[in-house]
Amino acid sequence: MVNLIIFGAPGSGKGTYASRLKEHLNVEVVATGDIFRDMMKGGSPLGEKVKSYVEKGLLVPDDITLEVLKRSLAKIPNGKGFVLDGYPRTIEQAKALDEIAKIDAIIHLVVPVWIIIERLSSRRICKNCGAIYNLLFLKPKSNMVCDRCGGPLYQRSDDTPEVIKKRIEVYEKQTQPLLEYYKEKRVPFVEVKCEKIETTPDIIVQEILKRLKGLRLA
Ligand code: ADP
Ligand code: ZN
Repeated sequence: MVNLIIFGAPGSGKGTYASRLKEHLNVEVVATGDIFRDMMKGGSPLGEKVKSYVEKGLLVPDDITLEVLKRSLAKIPNGKGFVLDGYPRTIEQAKALDEIAKIDAIIHLVVPVWIIIERLSSRRICKNCGAIYNLLFLKPKSNMVCDRCGGPLYQRSDDTPEVIKKRIEVYEKQTQPLLEYYKEKRVPFVEVKCEKIETTPDIIVQEILKRLKGLRLA
């Protein structure tokens, strides 16, 4: 059983790699952003509150986020590990996680800002199954529908130039100190650099798996 956190700026490919790692490791993916987007669809008061943060590129408050995390981790079957995508985003969240689970390694994706902006502006997501596409480098057969399930593709409301800039700023300010936090705790790091926009997810995922094997975690 292995518990991993995947860190990387918005658009670094976290979600894409996490869902592919799931096919190679005995893990569930917990992506707080996906959970929040589901909550936003419902139109409940809590969903509306979450939306007011997400749409501005701001972090959802820790009390709501923690509740969401606890509920998701509780659903994972015994003996199965997890990959966290999008959590923790603050030191408070990291400390709360420490109370619940042991983290075996951090996967840190290092991607230049220009690639991030390029990718997010052309990202499309399947409304039905959540598959992630990119109109430039991870093209669906049609720009409108999902290859996998035929569902409609949409652009996230926070994938606009201003909100993208805000999210990168928030990431750098609030998430970078988390890397320090885990380094101090001596949690092993798997750092993967992506310098070319055309590098395919397969290459990155193979690299991550190779490095996890080196740590005897895969
Ligand atoms: P990205 O990494 O591409 O910005 P995510 O899907 O991880 O996207 O998150 C989208 C939004 O959801 C964030 O901008 C934030 O508003 C909210 N969010 C996700 N995870 C957290 C978290 N752990 N704490 C607070 N807010 C979160
Ligand atoms: Zn789909």
